[in-house]
Amino acid sequence: MSDEIGKCLCGRIEVTCSELPKNVIACYCSDCQKASGGGPSFNIIVPDGDIQVTKGETSIFNVTADSGNSVERHFCSNCGSAVYSKLSTRTVWKAGLFNHIQDLELVANVWGSSDNKLSIINTEVKTFDKGAS
Ligand SMILES: [Zn+2]
Ligand SMILES: [Zn+2]
Repeated sequence: MSDEIGKCLCGRIEVTCSELPKNVIACYCSDCQKASGGGPSFNIIVPDGDIQVTKGETSIFNVTADSGNSVERHFCSNCGSAVYSKLSTRTVWKAGLFNHIQDLELVANVWGSSDNKLSIINTEVKTFDKGAS
């Protein structure tokens, strides 16, 4: 299988994954709503190193998340697309980077307590009020 390439909106940033990611966690925290334009963010969590930035360089916005943890939000400074967030325990990649987004599968929702009326939480999977541990 060839490597899967993901891109930001303008294409300046490319990421490559060695293993095709499948599972997605939707985050409804207030920071993700700001960053996404109002909805949740859809995050891919893979072992460190499975996905890497292979073209371009991300800009970083540091923020203290609803969880109290500090988060580095990496984005494309040209088009504004979110690329990944680096938490102390893991790195989460944005599902929108990938062409095979149709094949990704939602497995859980986090920060469901921060949901707004515009976004309808998919209740077919487990929803955590706060972050999943
Ligand atoms: Zn871009
Ligand atoms: Zn979030």
